[in-house]
Amino acid sequence: TPVAEGILRRKSIQLRNKQQDWQESVEGQKMQELRKSLPAYKEKEALLNAISQNQVIVVSGETGCGKTTQLPQYILESEIESARGATCSIICTQPRRISAMSVAERVAAERGENLGDSVGYKVRLEGIKGRDTRLLFCTTGILLRRLLLDRSLQGVTHVIVDEIHERGMNEDFLLIVLKELLPRRPELKLILMSATLNAELFSSYFHGAPMIHIPGFTYPVRSYFLENILEMTGYRLSTYNQIDNYGQEKSWKMQKQQTVRKKKTQIASAAEDALEGADMRELNPRTRESLSCWNPDSIGFNLIENVLTHICKKERAGAILVFMTGWDDINSLKDQLHSHPLLGDPTKVLLLACHGSMDSSEQKLIFNKPEDGIRKIVLATNMAETSITINDVVFVVDCGKAKETSYDALNNTPCLLPAWISKASARQRRGRAGRVQPGESYHLYPKSVYDAFAEYQLPELLRTPLQCLCLQIKTLQLGSISDFLSKALQPPEPLSVQNAIEYLKIIGALDDNENLTVLGRKLSVLPVEPKLGKMLILGAIFNCLDPIMTVVAGLSVRDPFLTPFDKKDLAESAKAQFSGGDNSDHLALLRAYDGWKAAERQQSGGEYCWRNFLSLQTLRAIDSLRKQFYHLLRDTGLVDNMEKCNTWSHDQHLIRAVLCSGLFPGICSVVNKEKSVSLKTMEDGPVLLYLNSVNAQEPRIPYPWLVFNEKVKVNSVFLRDSTAVSDSVVLLFGGTVSRGAIDGHLKMLGGYLEFFMKPGLAATYLTLKRELDELIHM
Ligand code: ADP
Ligand code: MG
Repeated sequence: TPVAEGILRRKSIQLRNKQQDWQESVEGQKMQELRKSLPAYKEKEALLNAISQNQVIVVSGETGCGKTTQLPQYILESEIESARGATCSIICTQPRRISAMSVAERVAAERGENLGDSVGYKVRLEGIKGRDTRLLFCTTGILLRRLLLDRSLQGVTHVIVDEIHERGMNEDFLLIVLKELLPRRPELKLILMSATLNAELFSSYFHGAPMIHIPGFTYPVRSYFLENILEMTGYRLSTYNQIDNYGQEKSWKMQKQQTVRKKKTQIASAAEDALEGADMRELNPRTRESLSCWNPDSIGFNLIENVLTHICKKERAGAILVFMTGWDDINSLKDQLHSHPLLGDPTKVLLLACHGSMDSSEQKLIFNKPEDGIRKIVLATNMAETSITINDVVFVVDCGKAKETSYDALNNTPCLLPAWISKASARQRRGRAGRVQPGESYHLYPKSVYDAFAEYQLPELLRTPLQCLCLQIKTLQLGSISDFLSKALQPPEPLSVQNAIEYLKIIGALDDNENLTVLGRKLSVLPVEPKLGKMLILGAIFNCLDPIMTVVAGLSVRDPFLTPFDKKDLAESAKAQFSGGDNSDHLALLRAYDGWKAAERQQSGGEYCWRNFLSLQTLRAIDSLRKQFYHLLRDTGLVDNMEKCNTWSHDQHLIRAVLCSGLFPGICSVVNKEKSVSLKTMEDGPVLLYLNSVNAQEPRIPYPWLVFNEKVKVNSVFLRDSTAVSDSVVLLFGGTVSRGAIDGHLKMLGGYLEFFMKPGLAATYLTLKRELDELIHM
């Protein structure tokens, strides 16, 4: 209506005057000067022009050049100047909630305003946003949610997707949805921002959208790798040093054999090569020997401490940025450093942590320059790689690993373990040291390990297990899974997608029409693979969560049982003793863990591990993962409170049943022959067990089935950890029947369970199974 239009026009003029007043004020002028010094400023006109002439543009530029804080602000200012202040609505997405919050605060300050005036933010469960907010910073997850309610983003004029080079799953999802929306909303502008130069991929995805690069400048940065660091600092890695963060008492040699035996990762073997490589021979023998004690599995707190001391004592002034894997690591290191005579002395060192859950007063300290004579050390996650820029950093310490953790349910990633970063990430980390003067970067791994890093990290969409991905698409109501995924920037294999959908139907997370079931909805909020999630949920329902959390954590970390070459028999019998003839690797793990916890209470955890061929490091990782599961389950409302712990059942029949619910359809039949046991799966025919399974040692297995969590094809098919289960457990807990009639379910169990088709038995079973399913889907 004309009246409403009049109000809007007046409002726009008010906003324009307010903006002008600020820009003409003394403080405003000072701020303008600061902003003009950023590289983005030189491209301001070009950027605004490109936006007005195109629906989509791709902007790239070095971290810190002013993309996030400046570009959205340029758009806002120009809209306000053109008297469109009251009608524009700009949304800028960030992959992490912490950056959405800190950037909004910064931009509001640069405009001389409070948060919630023209600039606001919104993240899950939190936000500051007012009636006049025209520029909103939010997490990618928040915008996806908004798209669920409002498919055409009514009223939004600009969408800016930041940090697209990270290739997070949510960002890839968002781009698919936006690409479909653009033709229906011709006046909507889309701006993609990336820290690296690989903008072509995004440009061609959007039909050749123009690319604009903001040239930046960084000072040269010198790189040191582990061998240089050892020579430079004279620090000796020794088997003892591997106790580092974990108090590991096993000799590294033993672990190394374990590593070789399991052929762990490409990187671990690269580490092996590094230690035997020709260029290593040029190093002095002490360094070589020290290097051979390096443990790729350990973050090496003592080594970090040593490097930090070296910089503080020997190097010029300048802040140190330490890249760690996650907030738990950051906190433990911080604790350790606090008791250090130099690093823990607040008159000499300002020790700060920078991670997703810090508050804003802590954040300010990170950006501020400390007093003269005080050295700022910031312990950060990979968030400080691109989304946060600390200007006075001169030294970078890079542990070479990253862990994906996030706090937004829509940002769930099933990867809870640290993994090696890519070369691109390592370069990015190094670059953080050269913002204000030439810098130095200390990489805590050998150069040869760096050489074996992947060039770029695989996009999250291709890293995430497909079953999790399919659940996510259904949770976000994005329609048919296959159709949706085929439109991605880099789509996964169609056949694998089909298999994942089939699997989700079998475990009862999706119904026949590919709709989420109640179980599926519960699984989608747990950041673990559906099979592990299902065990946790059933563990909660059947009141045996305590042991189930241990087993699930064990399955997600790695096997804590060590099998050194020279003591194989001893190690195997140690493990067998935990099994106690129960025919279950999972129950053995559970007893080993419980025994360790009991020993810890007597201060003899290390000795216990030593005696029983267990990895203390792995048991600790299991312990910490258990805690994470617990918080997750509590946050999602699946368990009420910690006190319940004491009443949790440890009944092994119950545990077997819950294990079966998660591991099915990973099942094989057992036939006891005269001298051996023969095993068969429906898909592969005869299969074998890995020799370190307790079931491989048994002359006979007094159960008709084994459920297993993993099978590996070498020349034959081998099963990893397994647990023996009875017919009735398989019938009741294997898969689900809620998607159809009993016949369908029995057909699915078919090949295995024909003999159960007797009419009487089937009827009893039907009743039982329905009751159970009601419980699961409640
Ligand atoms: P980009 O997005 O291109 O990486 P940013 O816009 O985030 O760059 O940062 C531009 C500049 O603004 C950097 O020099 C950075 O240090 C500075 N900056 C960003 N946030 C803050 C803040 N909260 N306090 C002080 N300076 C900041
Ligand atoms: Mg940025």
